[in-house]
Amino acid sequence: MSDANTLSRRRFLSLAALAAAGTSGLIATRAVAADLPALAADDPLAKSLNYVPDASKLTAASAPTFKPGSACAKCSLYSGAAGAASGPCGIFAGKAVSAKGWCISYAAKA
Ligand code: SF4
Repeated sequence: MSDANTLSRRRFLSLAALAAAGTSGLIATRAVAADLPALAADDPLAKSLNYVPDASKLTAASAPTFKPGSACAKCSLYSGAAGAASGPCGIFAGKAVSAKGWCISYAAKA
């Protein structure tokens, strides 16, 4: 076998291994996200960041920095699937936040 064929085969095997790793990682991430317990409103970190599972109930008095229309699903720290009711948040590791939720760390997606 020529060196060119050997390199091509090595490259193919490397790419195949990367593709397999990426696919299994994606599947594992989705499975983990679906299994996350919901973030409780009385969680100490959630309370300190004024997290609420339903942003529509916020008022200017209860959350002065809240802008109507803001919600976890539109936050750059949210990584839930499109249309999902909840998903992971970069701040609350191991918990799922409500797609309709909000906290003072909200940062609109670009
Ligand atoms: S950081 Fe963003 S996604 Fe996480 S709870 Fe706050 S508003 Fe929701």
